[in-house]
Amino acid sequence: MQYHVDGDLVPESEATVNVADRGFRYGDAAFETLRAYGGDVFRWDAHADRLDATCETLGIDHGLSRSDLRARVDETLAANDLDDAYVRLSVTRGAQQGKLTPRPVEDPTVVVMVKPLPRGGVDGADVWDGPAGVDTVETRRIPDAAIPASAKTHNYLNGILARRELSETADEALVCDVDGFVAEGATSNVFFVDDGTLHTPSLDGPVLPGITRDVVLDLADDRGIPVETGFYEPEQVRRADEVFCTNTTWEVRPVARVDGEAFPAPGPVTADLADAFDDVVEREHY
Ligand code: PLP
Repeated sequence: MQYHVDGDLVPESEATVNVADRGFRYGDAAFETLRAYGGDVFRWDAHADRLDATCETLGIDHGLSRSDLRARVDETLAANDLDDAYVRLSVTRGAQQGKLTPRPVEDPTVVVMVKPLPRGGVDGADVWDGPAGVDTVETRRIPDAAIPASAKTHNYLNGILARRELSETADEALVCDVDGFVAEGATSNVFFVDDGTLHTPSLDGPVLPGITRDVVLDLADDRGIPVETGFYEPEQVRRADEVFCTNTTWEVRPVARVDGEAFPAPGPVTADLADAFDDVVEREHY
């Protein structure tokens, strides 16, 4: 693979960053995980908006226009001859020393990494290894007052500690906020269907505003599926009729088990939304 590092395409083995880089030292960096279908990035503007918001929260100014950033992503896909791919775009504060306020002189590091991610998965297998098993974990989602969940930063220790609690048969964690309400997965948004209504935790809680979450909520609306966002106890998820998780890589991933409770995977609403998501990708990219 060739990666894009600070404006240059370089072979993966030579794609390095300075050990003094604050992204490496402190997780002081913003990133996006994107997906390309048919050589074209899915929902670029939504990802670029979220990257801007994260950079704004951190006070990182990468100094590139949106079209320059996009060009780096497109060049990386083209250099690797990739149509269907996983794309990771990172912006770190760089190796800057000294005070961070007032707004500092910036020397950001901008990296684009890619790998093949065929539709329907690698070698015909699903991207995910079947429906997910989910365990509710003790690790709590960091409150927004400490680190805003809307910022997608390189610091993923919260999710990593949550995933370290998982049992053998679990793929994703159900992470609650400090008050015990369901927030999200370690790397996904969580949905459940109860009596025909689709529920997902409100963005008023410590929840990353997932791009896939947004697409799924729009699709539910289009299809006349009642939607409610709010604050939910894990018990409401366990008592639901269907559960699924969403993220850019998994798209819509059915959940077969939450703690001791089994679910149809996919249930009918999940299957309908997953098909509708496929149709969106098909319509926008092929
Ligand atoms: N929540 C967290 C903590 C995540 O890390 C992710 C994606 O990685 C998501 C939700 C889903 O976001 P998206 O659909 O934009 O990939």
